[in-house]
Amino acid sequence: MDSFSLPARQKLLDFGAESSRLAWAAKDRGEPVGWMSTKFPAEIPAALGLVTCCPESQAAALASAGQGGPLCSAADGLGFCADLCSYSRIGLALAAGCQEGGSRIPLPDFLLCCNNICCNMLQWYQNLARTLDIPLFLLDIPYTAQNEPDGELIGYLRAQFSTLTRRLSAFVGRPWQEEAFSRACRGAVDSALAWQEVGELLKDPLCPWDGMELFDYMPVLVSRRCDPRTAGLLRELGRELAALPQAERPARARLMLEGTPCWPHLRQVLAPLRQANIRITADTITPSLGFVYQDLDGLLRAYCGTINGSTLAKGLADRARLCRERGVDGILMHLNRSCRPWSGVLPQLGRGLAGEGWAVVSFDGDQADPGGFAGAQYATRVQGLLEMLEKGKEAGA
Ligand code: SF4
Repeated sequence: MDSFSLPARQKLLDFGAESSRLAWAAKDRGEPVGWMSTKFPAEIPAALGLVTCCPESQAAALASAGQGGPLCSAADGLGFCADLCSYSRIGLALAAGCQEGGSRIPLPDFLLCCNNICCNMLQWYQNLARTLDIPLFLLDIPYTAQNEPDGELIGYLRAQFSTLTRRLSAFVGRPWQEEAFSRACRGAVDSALAWQEVGELLKDPLCPWDGMELFDYMPVLVSRRCDPRTAGLLRELGRELAALPQAERPARARLMLEGTPCWPHLRQVLAPLRQANIRITADTITPSLGFVYQDLDGLLRAYCGTINGSTLAKGLADRARLCRERGVDGILMHLNRSCRPWSGVLPQLGRGLAGEGWAVVSFDGDQADPGGFAGAQYATRVQGLLEMLEKGKEAGA
């Protein structure tokens, strides 16, 4: 049995897929449904019993299914510039009804946006609010050059939290209850701890499964992290993964994938790695969902600490620590044309990681627009990485 045939895997995927059915069912009952940005505090809508959909997760799923190209083209046809992030272009195309056969997620009645991952998100949601004529509830987390948010920033966020929850509660006509909020936070923290436990399995050099698999479970962590069932399902998955027979020999090399995966070309990206018995045992995104906290200030601090919201120094330290923990030999960086706040710092981060001894190569691509990737360039870069790793081994022998 391999990891793909584990019963817990299927249960978790079904649980994640249930989110869109829940959203349609809520619509049928006449309840408001929201669209929520990935790193908006999910604890807020959960406390109010609201159903939300994440258009970024939806865009990633559509891009993996080969629909990124047509939807990006549809957004171009609506007048949106091709230089915009492809997730936002897909989200705008979905909102305009451009998906063939109809969207898998219903149109929103309200929007929950946090700009802690980029400013593009805010422009995207402002456009949705205007064109759909629905309210936008914004949590403004400005970028700061501090490694940790200070008291002034936390005070600013606490004041916003109070206004936002009051306004949202009035809009949906449901009372804000501290006990419900605490319950949602406990669920989120427990899910995060269970998620960390699954990720830790990748530290074992004989771990038989590839870390790319963790991306399959991300929609659950984004949309249902506050649900008390999520932690249980993740722990079940962890137990089944841990019980798999170990690999007969360690991988030829272990890599960290930096950046959002190039979803439209994922098979092409992974094929040469699998052929060469190279495993991905670390990435930047999946650990970022395993954050825990103790109280409201801790929650607000945690939502400041996004990948794009971190300083260069913190980003470098976090990656170096992860690479050491997961026994990483080399780093494959996806210069994702869509996510400029992220890709913009990667050359400097790459130099920092190379300076600490890791073999680093990068390739060009896009998370959802198939046009941003060149197979020949990718093959050359992977070949270069293999050569660097071999040379490193010879030098260390
Ligand atoms: S620019 Fe990056 S962070 Fe912003 S919406 Fe696009 S992918 Fe997400």
